[in-house]
Amino acid sequence: MCNAKKQSNKMTFEGRRGFLKKAGVAAVGTALGSQSLAASSPKPENTISADEALDRLMEGNMRYVTGTSKLHDFNAERAALVGGQNPYACILSCADSRIAPEYAFDSSRGDLFVVRVAGNFVSMNGLASLEYAVTYLGTRLLMVLGHQGCGAISGAISMIREGNVLPGSLPELMESLAPSVGLAINQPGDLLENAIRENVRLNVAALRAASPILSKMVVKDELRVVGGVYSLESGRVDLLG
Ligand SMILES: [Zn+2]
Repeated sequence: MCNAKKQSNKMTFEGRRGFLKKAGVAAVGTALGSQSLAASSPKPENTISADEALDRLMEGNMRYVTGTSKLHDFNAERAALVGGQNPYACILSCADSRIAPEYAFDSSRGDLFVVRVAGNFVSMNGLASLEYAVTYLGTRLLMVLGHQGCGAISGAISMIREGNVLPGSLPELMESLAPSVGLAINQPGDLLENAIRENVRLNVAALRAASPILSKMVVKDELRVVGGVYSLESGRVDLLG
């Protein structure tokens, strides 16, 4: 039954994609992309390499941790960003309300392209969003950001270990996180912490391998994908090797 549901979702997605192509939306997308690249790099300081972007993220996180975040002039930023955006990094984050990537990396608007879903995993539409940022906005760094005490992963553990059945669409979300729990379940130490790290690693690997756009750029060294885990206690982001 579950497989049938997945098949049905796939067909719906493919059917919709076919319809959009027929309707000429693909051409509109191309035009939108050209406009974005040509007309809008409102923040010249954001046109940087992946390594520079990672340094900037971690410096911002250090300011956040030490309580020395910058003051941001939202009024001036609003006006500058009307014509477009060129964020220097993409963050795939959990939807958890305690995680706020813009705060955690002490960034302004227009700096981070953030995709959020409970459990910070790669979904079809999430991948498309990241592909958009990389292709049309010039972003060169993607970070998968897990976090301490993730309720979504805790739910997946509970589903696997205790057979808990959740309502609505939640079982589908749990299934997306189950592979990380499977990798962590026999590891020594805390299962939740291990599964959170495995989930980040799995999704970093998924983004690096995502064809046809991201994988080619990674191979050519035009894109870097990294993983990190956010501490609820300290606000610190630790990069995963
Ligand atoms: Zn979470």
